[in-house]
Amino acid sequence: MSVPLLDLKAQHATIRDEVVGRVMQVIDDQVFILGAAVTTLEAEVAALSRTKYAIGCANGTDAILLAMRALDIGAGDEVVTSPFTFFATAGTIHNVGAKPVFVDIDPKTFNIRPDLAAAAVTSRTKAVIPVDLFGQMAPIEEIRRLLPTMPIIEDAAQSIGARRRIDGTWRMAGEAATIGTFSFFPSKNLGGYGDGGMMVTQDQAIRDRLMRLRTHGSVQTYLHEEVGFNSRLDALQAVVLSAKLPHLAAWSAARRRNAEFYTAAFADLADVGTPFIDPANESIYNQYTIRVPRRDALREHLNAKGIGHSVYYPLPLHLQPCFAYLGYKEGACPESERASREVLSLPVFPELTSAQRDTVVAAVRGFFGK
Ligand SMILES: *Cc1c(COP(=O)(O)O)cnc(C)c1O
Repeated sequence: MSVPLLDLKAQHATIRDEVVGRVMQVIDDQVFILGAAVTTLEAEVAALSRTKYAIGCANGTDAILLAMRALDIGAGDEVVTSPFTFFATAGTIHNVGAKPVFVDIDPKTFNIRPDLAAAAVTSRTKAVIPVDLFGQMAPIEEIRRLLPTMPIIEDAAQSIGARRRIDGTWRMAGEAATIGTFSFFPSKNLGGYGDGGMMVTQDQAIRDRLMRLRTHGSVQTYLHEEVGFNSRLDALQAVVLSAKLPHLAAWSAARRRNAEFYTAAFADLADVGTPFIDPANESIYNQYTIRVPRRDALREHLNAKGIGHSVYYPLPLHLQPCFAYLGYKEGACPESERASREVLSLPVFPELTSAQRDTVVAAVRGFFGK
């Protein structure tokens, strides 16, 4: 039996009638860009994230880009972030004209180390972008404590609905940041049927600015306060996402159950490092990522057995060719570099059957002769 890394068809089958009904309604209404469907989804995501505002946009990359523009970040500025993340986190920093400053990760959680972020701040630093990697939140309160006045853009593309206990209270991904950003790329836990993104904030002035920036810098039609972007969410995506959102909590719980099953099944394998979830966090497991010293040999074994897997991420961003101009050398962020050599993500999607889970476990254990 082969097992895919992600099975979007299995999820679609459970919600097909509802989604198709809503999509047909949009088609009959012929209102495709923004509109009531987007406003409804924005209210739903704001409620989930416990933020005052949510603003839809075209994708998760634009969400980060617009967030920086809303904070007036541009040429001559620096933004501190993690090199162990999807490219968009730093590509957007470059694209607003600012300089990405990379600091290393905590090897246990794969998230940015707040002390290193604070140490990298200069007079030109305009924001820190922690990433809530693989479904668990970065220690945002620690970044706040070290840098009380620094804007924080929380890249929560992989972590919508994740939460973290801060000073005894559960805080949702995006809730405690200056601006939190989400992606609805199909492989995220809340995935659309195409591209989509959203920004959340507690600040009304920032919300107004983001609303303006996503529509060419204009609130009143044909009057442009500033030069913005065309980055709107469309109604077809919004109704799909509104249909899926009520299922998100159950899907995330199913991912956690799958993760616990694997972690128990790998407990006796000395060469497998199972995911560490900070006790303050509840992860939504966008990925179940193990560490294996002989990672590439295990990949070949899993390929032969038909087990879906992937390496997120094989080359940290400070060593990407496009960022050679920044001057980082190998060794600059050793934990990110080691993670890139050792990590492997296994199928953890909510619809995974117990037979599929057993097949994954048997294949991994078989590699270690167990
Ligand atoms: C997916 C992702 C993004 C970008 O989202 P898109 O919707 O694909 O543009 C940004 N940051 C992280 C960490 C992501 O995983």
